[in-house]
Amino acid sequence: MKYKINEQSFIARIAAWNLRSTQMAIVIGNTIHLHNVSKKAFLDNKSWFRHELTHIQQFKSHGYICFVCKYLYESIKHGYHNNKYEIEARNAELNEDFFP
Ligand SMILES: [Zn+2]
Repeated sequence: MKYKINEQSFIARIAAWNLRSTQMAIVIGNTIHLHNVSKKAFLDNKSWFRHELTHIQQFKSHGYICFVCKYLYESIKHGYHNNKYEIEARNAELNEDFFP
């Protein structure tokens, strides 16, 4: 899967502040934006990496605009934790067949 990594991302910093999280990874299109975590530490954390790769796949399969709309709709309707795209990403975290 094609992806890019943007360390010390401003977008990820805003997201971290918004979710009151010290470290953050956020996917937009095929770019993983990181805040307060190095690229190496992120890639070494397999479950976290799989989680974010799942979001890249979701962007790809739904299309950029469609996915942003669907994701926001899910978040508003069900909240961040019960957003079906977050559930799918969490389920992929420990799946070693999925992006080993
Ligand atoms: Zn997620």
